[in-house]
This record gives sequence, C-alpha cells and structure tokens, in this order.
Amino acid sequence: MLIIHDPHAPQSRYSPYLAELLRIEGLVSYQATNLSELNATTLAVHDIVILPRTTLDRHQIALLCDYVTTGGTLLALLPDNNLVKALGFTPCYQLIPHGQLTMCDATIVTEPIDVIGPTAIWQVPADATMLAHINQQPAIVGRTIGAGNVLLYAFDVAYCVARLRQGDPHYVDLCAAGLDGIYRPSELFVHQLDPQRAHIPQADLHTALLAHLIMQYAPQPRIWYYPRAQQTSTMIMTSDDDWSQVAEFEALIAGLARHDAQCTFFLVPQSRVKSSDVARWQAAGHTFSVHPALAQDIVVGLATDEPQVRIVADMLAENISRHQREYTAPVRTIRQHAVRWLGYVEAARVLASHGVQLDCNYLAVSPYLGYLCGSGRAVRFVDEHGQIIDCFQQPTLWTEECLIHTEYVFSFKWNVAQAVAVTDQLIADAAQRYYTPVTINSHPVSFATYSQPLIEANWQAAQRHGMPIVSADTWLDWTTCRDQIRLHCTNGTWLLTTNQPIECISIIVPSGIIPFAPTTTVIRWGMQMQMLELPQLNSGTHTIGRIASERARS
Ligand SMILES: [Zn+2]
Repeated sequence: MLIIHDPHAPQSRYSPYLAELLRIEGLVSYQATNLSELNATTLAVHDIVILPRTTLDRHQIALLCDYVTTGGTLLALLPDNNLVKALGFTPCYQLIPHGQLTMCDATIVTEPIDVIGPTAIWQVPADATMLAHINQQPAIVGRTIGAGNVLLYAFDVAYCVARLRQGDPHYVDLCAAGLDGIYRPSELFVHQLDPQRAHIPQADLHTALLAHLIMQYAPQPRIWYYPRAQQTSTMIMTSDDDWSQVAEFEALIAGLARHDAQCTFFLVPQSRVKSSDVARWQAAGHTFSVHPALAQDIVVGLATDEPQVRIVADMLAENISRHQREYTAPVRTIRQHAVRWLGYVEAARVLASHGVQLDCNYLAVSPYLGYLCGSGRAVRFVDEHGQIIDCFQQPTLWTEECLIHTEYVFSFKWNVAQAVAVTDQLIADAAQRYYTPVTINSHPVSFATYSQPLIEANWQAAQRHGMPIVSADTWLDWTTCRDQIRLHCTNGTWLLTTNQPIECISIIVPSGIIPFAPTTTVIRWGMQMQMLELPQLNSGTHTIGRIASERARS
C-alpha cells in the first residue's frame, strides 16, 4: 500500500492525518512517497495506491491510469476533474456543501453519517459500482478499468474526520452553547454537530468504512483495536480531583476495587491528596496526573476578569511543573479544570511541548452527551495546516455532573434511572456495534455524595460487555505501543515489527494469508473474521503468516 503526499498543494494538507487514520484502523503496512517523486517503478510494487485531494499534471494522470489498467487499485479522495474524466466519469462542476453519507449495502455504516466539506457531483459510467451516496449523488464509487480498479471518494474523508473530531475552527475562542462563558472544546461543535446525533461515533464509522474498502480491494493483515481477539471495547476511567476530601477518594477507590477497575486521577493545585496517599493508591494500579486550575478557582470560583485566551498557556505550564515537582512524577495524561481550552489546537500544542501525550479535554458538555468528536478513539491532533501534533486526543463521553447534577447550568438534570438507561445504551453500542472505547469521568466528591449509583451502573455495564476498566495511562501505553507497530510483506511472508515488547496483540488475517498459528473466528461488523492473537512478543520482527498464492504486489 502506498500513500502519496503533496506537500506543495494546500488542499492536500490533510494527507499526513490520513496516514494517522490508517494506523488507527490497524492498516500499518503503507509506504509513503511525494507526488513529485512518483514513477511507474514505485507504483508497480503496490497493490493499492492512496491519492489524497490534490491536482495532477498530464504526466501524473497517465502514470496513475497505466498503473490501474495494469492491475493496481487507486483510491482517490476528491480527485481533480482531469483525473475524474480520465477514469471515465463526468464532472458536473457542482458541489454539495455538506450532506449525509449512506452506504448502499449498509455494511459498517448502518445509519447516515455527516460529511463535512464539499462533495463533488459526477455522472458515473454504467459499469461503475455505487458504494455510498450523499443526497442521492454518488459519494463513493468503484470501477474496474482494464486489469485494475479505482475507488473514488467524492469528498475528502481526511478533512471530514478532522472536522468531526475537532470541531469548526471558525468558532475558536468563542462560546456558542449558552452556558457560563468558559471556552471549552465542546463550544467548537455547537453549529456543526446535531446533539441528536452524538450517540453515533461518526468519525469512527468514516475510518472503519475506509479500512473496510481498502481490505476489499487490497486484503492485508490488520491490527485489531485491542490486545485480545475477543475484546471489543474498553472503559477508560478518569477522575477529576476538584479538591475532594481524602475520604471521598477512598470511597471511589473502594468502588473501583469492587469492580476490578483502575483509574487515572487528575489532581488539582492544593489538592488534599498527599504523596503518601498517591503511593498507596498507585500500588493498587491507579495512576495520577494533573488537573490544571487557576489559584482563584479555589477561592472565588470559575469566573475570571482575565480573558481565557491569555491565561491557559501559563496555567498549563505552572500546573504541570508544580505537579511534577510535588509528586516527582511525569505528566503524561491530562484534563483541565472546567476543561478550559485555547484556540483550535493551541492548547494541544502547549501540552505536547510539556510532554503530555494524551489529552482528555474533549469532554461532551451540554448540549452534548456521547461522541462529541464522533469518536471514542485516541488520535493525534491535527492543526488547520495539516500538521500533526504529537499528543493524542482522547474524547471523554460523559462526566456525571453534566447528566445528573441538580443545579449546574450545563447539567441535563436527569434522574439517575434516565442517565443509567442512556449511558447503558452508549456502552452497549460501543462494545457491540462500534468497537470504540468509552472514556468517562467521576469526581471523588461527586461519587461520595450523589453519583455512585450512576458510575457503578456504568462499571457494571462495562463488565457485562467484557470491557476492561483501565486508567488513562494504561490506555496511553497501549495506544503508543500499537501506534509504533509496522506490518510488512517480504517474499510472500507477512511480518510484524515492534520496537518494544508487547504483552498481547491481535491481528485480523484476511483469507489468502495462511497464519503461522491457529486463529480465533470472531464476528465484527456482521462479518466473520479470523483473528490471530500473539501473546508475549519481544521487540523485533515476528512472522504473522504467508500469502497462499504468490502475489507480485504488496
Ligand atoms: Zn475540575
């Protein structure tokens, strides 16, 4: 698999993010090249070539058409009109500004999902296969040309996922949700995401569909989302300190112990928790990081005279260095008090500069509950110029006070039964339909005073669905370990390379590849799949299987 980048074309800027999305989907055998260096020899060794949105000259179009007619598969995102014409489609020179994608056979995507960004309108030749449509217009189409295939997206799925995950940059540093004037990540979604659709992980469905199409045209081993073949989701448990009493921490930790659960606690400045408490609770598997807050938060509450845009960077720097000093521990994961944010991804950039690797600030706050980011998965942030920021965005699906607190402006003020019913369904769908993680938050003070019935019900739902309940740090360890794994094919043998030991990893092995160990049969997205579970791998290269019949391309 080859992904083409075009660093000189501004409209192509999301192609590095596309590579991030392929990795999230466990497709890690790709190589990359720049458009300016594209040649027939490079193309010929790849069974599928992914072309991001860009413009091509006549020579490049001819190269790609030759590649297809001689047996390659070209997957192109919002291809330019000259390529569209060369592939036998007719541009109508019209666009759909935004729409909803419906899959023709309802595999992977069973309900319409939002497409943000323009969709081109084409007339398709009679022998093309319509795979998905937007407002009755072809949105994803396949066509066999000569000995090969083209798979055309009429929209830029990488840009679309960036927008679904990170919101609308036009709303940066503004508030739109009618709450308390604090600029939170959720404000970026107010005029983009219909709250009635936040129960659907739309970004995850886009990437799962992309991976599914690639697997149809270029079957290859694919890393499963979780370590074990049978695991279909995980619950990531977090707890914002908010100056809770030590006894309230003890109550939450006792509850976690009863549910075989581990948690990351984000500690405020002037926390009541001492290093000795931390050491004791770490021994039980919990982890601790910082919950950055302003000194005045303790005294006068959240309102401040200073514009938020001027205080967040300093607040983060001060809180991170103080926490590291006080607890002599690194700050790898984080959530800010009141999830104060900065810019589009400016806060993420500041966090990355301080070595923070997993950000939990994209929390669903009123009017949202669930998939604010259209996702439960950890994916690195991307800025408006397409530059990847080395910090994973880990969306948080809910926190108790947004659901059942009786007074807060951002609370739905539901009773516990209603909150349990809604969150039970979200957890069940995450485990059974979407295979996406569920990150939640419970403050010790809230657990000890009003939210225990809701949070315990959430843990029990996770247990019913076989979801391990892990800390944000444990999830980060898995995320970074999985992220560095590469798969590659050499002389008909598929190999896995890792630069660190792996406790367990599972690989989806498509038919046509003979695995080197027995596989487990699982049903995912309604399809039967063979999963190869590899426990206890040392760093280095390991064999996965070999191609049943020799193929020339990889
Ligand atoms: Zn807080």
